[in-house]
Order: sequence, then C-alpha cells, then structure tokens
Amino acid sequence: MSYLVLFDTDRIQDYVFATQKLRAMRGGSFLLERLNRETRETIMARGGQVIYVGGGAGAARFEDKTSALNFCCALEAEYRKETIIAGITTCIAEQTAGESFKDWLERAEKGLRRRKDAKDRSIPLVNNPYAKVCEFCGRLPAEGDPVKNKYICMACKIQWDMGMNYKHSLIYKAIEEKFAFTSITWPESLEDIGQASDPEGYIGLIYADGNRMGQRRQDELKRCQDTEVEEKYWQFSECVDKATRWAMVDAVTELLGQPVANKPYPVQFFITGGDDMLAAVPAQQAVPIALKFGELFEQYYKVGRPEEDVGESFAGMGQDASVAMGAALAKQNYPLHSLINTARQLQKSAKQLAWKVWKETGKDVSTIDFLATSSSLLKPIQEQRAEELAYDQLRLTQRPYAIDDAGKLVELIRGLKSSGFPQNKVNDLWRPLYRGRLAACLDFLVLLSRLSDRGGDSPQQALAEVAKEFNLSPFPWRLTPDFHYITPLLDLAELYDFINL
Ligand SMILES: [Zn+2]
Repeated sequence: MSYLVLFDTDRIQDYVFATQKLRAMRGGSFLLERLNRETRETIMARGGQVIYVGGGAGAARFEDKTSALNFCCALEAEYRKETIIAGITTCIAEQTAGESFKDWLERAEKGLRRRKDAKDRSIPLVNNPYAKVCEFCGRLPAEGDPVKNKYICMACKIQWDMGMNYKHSLIYKAIEEKFAFTSITWPESLEDIGQASDPEGYIGLIYADGNRMGQRRQDELKRCQDTEVEEKYWQFSECVDKATRWAMVDAVTELLGQPVANKPYPVQFFITGGDDMLAAVPAQQAVPIALKFGELFEQYYKVGRPEEDVGESFAGMGQDASVAMGAALAKQNYPLHSLINTARQLQKSAKQLAWKVWKETGKDVSTIDFLATSSSLLKPIQEQRAEELAYDQLRLTQRPYAIDDAGKLVELIRGLKSSGFPQNKVNDLWRPLYRGRLAACLDFLVLLSRLSDRGGDSPQQALAEVAKEFNLSPFPWRLTPDFHYITPLLDLAELYDFINL
C-alpha cells in the first residue's frame, strides 16, 4: 500500500511578523525556508520518496504506514522545536484500490485543509502576573538571558539568532550568483536601504501574491491525463516558486544595478515562499521594481526562464498567470509593522481589481496599488479613500491600476520631469481637484497656458500627454461607465517625488 503525505507550514506571516525587529523577521523567514529545504532529507531518511518540497509546503510518498507516521511526527516536532509558534500541519492518505493519483491527491488535500482548520489558531498570551512579557513580540513569556538588554521569548530569540544567517536564503544567493564577479554587502537595517533612496531616508515595501493560484493548480491537474498528474503537480509548485523568486531577483538586479563597493545592496526580503513575496527597497525603486516583477512573473510562469540568462533556467506552464501587488512608501523610521500592514491592504485592493477584470473578461491582469504615506492608516484604505478622495460625483484616484496603466503613469512622470516641469507646480497637479469639477477644469487650463511650450518636449506638451494617455476630457477628468468623473492626476502627484529619471 502507498501513503501520500502532504504538509504545509502554519501561519507563516503571523510567525515572521510576530516580532517587531527587522533582524528577527528576516531570521524567521530564513528559518522557515531552511526547515522546508531540510524536509527533503527528512523524507528520504525516513524511507519516503519526495514528490515535491518548496514554498513552505510539500508532498511525499511512503510505502508503509509506520514510516509515514514517523515522518509526520518528526516533522511536526522539528517545527515546534525550532519555531515554537509556527508549526506545520501534516496529513496522511492511504491509496485505495484502483484510485488515480488525482483522486488520491484531492482526498489528501481535503484532509490537510480539515486538519489545518481544526488547529487552534490563537497564540498563547501571558497571563501570569509574575512572568515578564517578551519585549519583541509582546505575546510570549520572556526566557533566558536578555538580548541587547531586552527580555525576549524563546521564539523571538531563535528568530533573532537566525537573523545573522539570512544571507544564506535562496533569494540572496541568487542575487550573489548574478553578481559573481564582485562581493555584496547586505543591509543590516532599513536605514541602510533608506540611504540609497532619492529622496533620501525613504523606503518602499512591495508585497506581492499570485492571483487564484489554487484554482490554477486545479485547472492544470484537470487538464492532464491520470498518468501525468503527479509530474504536473510538482512542475506547477516548482514553477510558481521559481517564477516568483527569479522574477524578483531579475527585477531587483535590473533596477538597482550592480553593487557599489563598500555600500550595502539596498534590498531586504521578508517572505519569499511559494507565490508570496515581501521586499523592502529604496522608495523611488519600489513601483518600478514591482512593475518589472509583475511583467517577469507573467513571462516566467508562461514560458519559463531562458537558459542564456545567468542563474536558474526552468520551463513555464504554457498558461497565463498574474500577480497582485501593493507598494507602500514611507520614511525609513516609519513603524515597520504598520507599513507591512499597509502594503498588505494595498495588495488586497490590487487583488480585487485583478479579480474583477478576470470575472468580466476572463483575462489575467497583474495589478498594483500604491500609497505614499506620512501618517499611520487609522482606517482601512478603501474607507479612507472614500472619505478623502471622493466627493460629489468625483473620484480623485484611479488606484488600483493594471500594471500597464501604472507603467504609463510612471513614464508620464518621467516625461514631466525631463521636460523641466517646475517642481513648485507639482502641488498644482492635485490641489484644483478639490475645488469641484468645473473649477478644476478651469484651473488646469490656466496651468497649461502658463507652462512653457518651447522646445520639442516642453512641460506643456508633457502635461498634455497625460491627458492624451488617460483619455482625460475635459482635462483633468474622464467619465466612467457609472457616471463618475475620475482622474489620475492626484496619483501622479503622490508618486511624483518617488519616480526618478
Ligand atoms: Zn517574543
């Protein structure tokens, strides 16, 4: 009899972001990656056969029940020991007589989901008045000697120690491989990243997640013959994992360029498993890197990564896929937790657009939402926008954007900058929008007439180009099918300082 074992890491993000410290976060992220990679050996050591391991999850086949059970116990114990709070869920399914791999897999997946849902999701809080609460996560009792004069819990201590080794993570290794001719210094803090920013002192967090990946896998398996299902299953998981990682590596290295001697290479990754990605980069690179990432992910998922490129090559799935991204830009000392939360909300907003387009047209479109923020979000983003960026029948933002439109916005900003559009007029790009529809039209006419029209690419032409590209008529509005007037001008102004030539 054969036994199929599926496993999946629990609460990856809760675990990685439980701590408040950057170093501990990347340590946690690396620890999960390392544990996942080591699972391959654990499977083989217990007499199993690896079907797939990657992105915090995996599958294996065992020929006897005891080995399968032993493996599951060993794996769960290892995760408990190393992470204290993250854990992993396993599920064993025995193949019934004559059952196809497809049905077997489906049954195992249902079992895994049931087991995951049944798990207690709460992380214990300290309620003993004599115990000191961990100063990193504020949740577990502090133990052992203080770290940097702070009393911290076992889970945070391991994450913190692991933070030293994060450079061994696959994604950092991949970047080092691309720049094999030189050595790279990695940043130790967000300040190291902010220093590389222009304007200085700002960082951008990019949060990306594939759209409808579960559904996509189902479709892939449905399409193939019974005999091909097992192969397709690991091909899919591997393709998603590699397409995500390499799209980010290639986007980052293309836009950040080669490492500069004695300066940290300004990027940090927090989540890099499966189709999830969370990275911090200098603010002015966040949106361009995200857009490049979206474009490359679509390409790599469909046709794979070419052999002639430095790094790993792999085959694509021959189908379309897309990602939804959030980019949150803020000062480097902005509370990291709030910024991560903002980036996730932006990603959700982008995902809704991707979903809507897919439902209406059946097309896969990668999308992005962004926000340059100086204060903490007090309300959910959509609520805040409904209050601040909409009145009467006017909508002062086009966010979220399909990546093609966001790319247009970036190019239009570059067009304005290279035309010599006066910096002191940037506020005039959004202020009139609050004066009502007609008054705004007049204000923009005045603005246009006062801008220089001399030269091939004059400021006046660059602004007129914005109207043309987004079909704004009468400038700065466009009438939507549901009879609202919408404009990208405020989005453009918000992003203006964070896009460089
Ligand atoms: Zn803690």
